[in-house]
Amino acid sequence: MAGRRIVVIGGGISGLSAALRVRARLPDADVTVLEGSAEIGGKLRLGTVAGFAVDVGAEAMLARRPEGLGLVRDVGLEADLIAPLATSAQVRAGGAAHPLPTRTMMGIPTDVDAARASGALSEQALDRIAAEPGADPLPPLEDDVAVGTLVRSRLGDEVADRLVEPLLGGVYAGRADDLSLRATMPALAARLGRDGGSLVGAAQAVTDTGAHNPAAGPVFASLAGGLGSLPAALVAAGGFAVRTSITVRSVRRTPSGFALDCGPVPEPELIEADAVIVATPAAKTALLLRDVAPAASAQLRAVDSASMAITTFAFRDVRLPEGSGLLVGATEGFGVKAVTLSSQKWPLVTDGLTLLRASVGRAGENHLLQRDDDDLIALVRHELQALIGVDAEPVDALVTRWGGGLPQYGLGHVERVARVRAAVAAVPGLAVCGAAYDGVGIPACIASAHMAADQVVASLQAGGQ
Ligand SMILES: Cc1cc2nc3c(=O)[nH]c(=O)nc-3n(C[C@H](O)[C@H](O)[C@H](O)COP(=O)(O)OP(=O)(O)OC[C@H]3O[C@@H](n4cnc5c(N)ncnc54)[C@H](O)[C@@H]3O)c2cc1C
Repeated sequence: MAGRRIVVIGGGISGLSAALRVRARLPDADVTVLEGSAEIGGKLRLGTVAGFAVDVGAEAMLARRPEGLGLVRDVGLEADLIAPLATSAQVRAGGAAHPLPTRTMMGIPTDVDAARASGALSEQALDRIAAEPGADPLPPLEDDVAVGTLVRSRLGDEVADRLVEPLLGGVYAGRADDLSLRATMPALAARLGRDGGSLVGAAQAVTDTGAHNPAAGPVFASLAGGLGSLPAALVAAGGFAVRTSITVRSVRRTPSGFALDCGPVPEPELIEADAVIVATPAAKTALLLRDVAPAASAQLRAVDSASMAITTFAFRDVRLPEGSGLLVGATEGFGVKAVTLSSQKWPLVTDGLTLLRASVGRAGENHLLQRDDDDLIALVRHELQALIGVDAEPVDALVTRWGGGLPQYGLGHVERVARVRAAVAAVPGLAVCGAAYDGVGIPACIASAHMAADQVVASLQAGGQ
């Protein structure tokens, strides 16, 4: 494979992981990552608050899947792995904060006693959970369904609004009534698709096994220097080239491979490649694939995204509620959808300061973000007072905006992704990966990157024979 050139478009965790994998499998190939912005890392990014480097994008990765921890080990950061100090979170439900019930699957209760102990639900809602396993069984689910539709029909609005919505809001910045069951809870969807029956029973069966089993160790992990330190470690370990501040505008097929039109229109640069991995968000990928895989492009254009902002604060001498943070459902009437009590959640060195972050903006709430940073900080501070009783003047505050930051997995997303992959697979040497496909979390992005890397390696090897 000497002299073969593989270009990865997008230097987020997906693109960097794909580059690392290709380089490991084809040590003689020339692998280059092209990143449009000035920094690599995408949604893994460090910011500075009161002199401390903090994550202003992703801050925790699922430790129950192997890909994230595996990557950390591969790039020599294992000694930096940290586990949360506090894992119990709260949820704002019905106007007050309650412990997030244990034994739920993305908020779907699997144990009525645990739901009762939290205090987040009314007696009527608890009765409904208790009765659901004995109610008319669901027929096996033949089609995809919105999570909210299913939960409302089996367990009522309260469970959907007070528990499921805040959890889905936390992960996808999405709305339960719009998000696909198959895409967001594949194991539950598979079980209900096969057997139907009870929602509570199926959620119970799924949480009792594998990745959801509480006996399997900490659910989340991070890095002592922040998850935002992972991208640089990948590049240092990688053996691949990275160019930043180079936006790819289009990808074309040539007789021998691909031609990428890069850079600003007045100063175009043509880069040729034998294989291309597109690791950009859905809307950007749709533009890039217009010529080379138009059917995939059309499918990706329909993937919506939610914008949000992360506000990070440093306080001195404040009293916080216990635990790792608070989730807030859309019906509670706040712009803030989640608060992470960072210096309680992680073993951070903060020189006596209290660090916390609050995220604002769910799908469809762009209006909340259309204010300048000072106004956004004022809004969040006002809400923090009501949500966690913090009204102190911060020592420092930082706003990080993530326009279109999280793809929305709407109804039929899994089938849409299959169509995208089929259209891309018809173009030898082309592959896609990233948050738009099989999960927005870091391990899922890495898994999609490995799949894309393996596809282009196989394609190059087949072409070379
Ligand atoms: C605020 C926030 C908090 C999150 N928190 C967590 C968390 O705690 N845990 C977790 O697991 N997940 C979290 N996520 C989700 C996760 O971080 C992302 O899904 C994941 O990092 C996406 O990685 P990616 O490489 O696929 O895409 P991105 O990180 O979006 O990277 C894509 C890159 O492509 C570049 N690019 C775009 N267009 C072009 C072009 N035309 N030419 C060249 N380059 C281009 C972009 O500049 C970007 O750097 C969070 C997401 C957000 C927004």
